[in-house]
Amino acid sequence: MKITDITVEVTSEPKAHAVRDAIQLLDRNGHTRVRIDTDEGVSGESTTYFGRVESSPAILGKLIEDQFAPVIVGEDPTLIRGIRQQLQTLTDYQGTAGLSSYGISAIDQALWDLLGKSLGVPVWKLLGAQRTAIPSYAMVGWLELDVAGLERVSAQAMEQGFRGVKMKVGGGPLTADVQRIKAVRNVIGPDAPLMVDANQAFGYAEALRRGRVYEELDCRWFEEPLPAGDTEGHVRLAEKLDIPIATGENRYGQAAFRDLIARGGVGVVQPDLRRAGGVTDCLEIGLLAAGFGVPYASHGGGAHIHVLAALPNTIYVESGLLNGNVELVDGCYPLPEGPGLSSWNG
Ligand SMILES: [Mg+2]
Repeated sequence: MKITDITVEVTSEPKAHAVRDAIQLLDRNGHTRVRIDTDEGVSGESTTYFGRVESSPAILGKLIEDQFAPVIVGEDPTLIRGIRQQLQTLTDYQGTAGLSSYGISAIDQALWDLLGKSLGVPVWKLLGAQRTAIPSYAMVGWLELDVAGLERVSAQAMEQGFRGVKMKVGGGPLTADVQRIKAVRNVIGPDAPLMVDANQAFGYAEALRRGRVYEELDCRWFEEPLPAGDTEGHVRLAEKLDIPIATGENRYGQAAFRDLIARGGVGVVQPDLRRAGGVTDCLEIGLLAAGFGVPYASHGGGAHIHVLAALPNTIYVESGLLNGNVELVDGCYPLPEGPGLSSWNG
């Protein structure tokens, strides 16, 4: 089998309801869709999502069409790691992290989709699954919501059957965080996991000060307390706090996780399928973390569910509120049965 063509489709439009975290307003729905065709008539597809910056989907599309496609066309699509190696070499001079890694991830996911479809099985079966359902929590506590709004969405998440909820912190003073966390805890009950996410907003001293309070409030983890690349800061913070530090959504490629995991700077590893390198790198990051006894919770859901099915250290898939196309069973997402990298989010 040979790759014959790569096509890209781009959309970018304002979001109907913009959401806010501690560092940014996410006000756009942008997508870059990639299709890889072969000489045997089988195709693979992937979709990369952008929540900010109008031009990003088109720039990614241009990167894939102009730089990546000429290298990949003619290759055997089942050589997924071989193609990754070629693209890493190709992008080394301009920087393999950042948008290049988004492109490598998009190609990787389309190749796994293609492989699954060529064999007529979902990708989680190819990866050697450990489970048939993935425990899930709902990320619903955005900062544009007032306390009443927070209470409403938290109740909705629990009614839909989620195990627990995540909320943003760091949008105001610590007193505001405390008020909001207590309100959500009151809605979800004493035993449901409640995670807090600062989206890289704090410096070391403030992260330590707030982390001690989140710990007292029985939060399940403290997500992105510091700028994502500050490995040393994460290591020092993890030494001081009992609450697990969760991070990883803004790191690119397996190598970016190595020192962080090995030095104990992360208590819950959270790669993003779009940034970290797709199925291949997320699987490798997850196995690296498993070797150090660190649990894995995806950033985002969708096609990531295939990786979560296979990893021994999976604890949660992240989700928004359900949109009607799937129901949770005992707080878990069932695995999709469609061939390739199918997901519940379309
Ligand atoms: Mg996050």
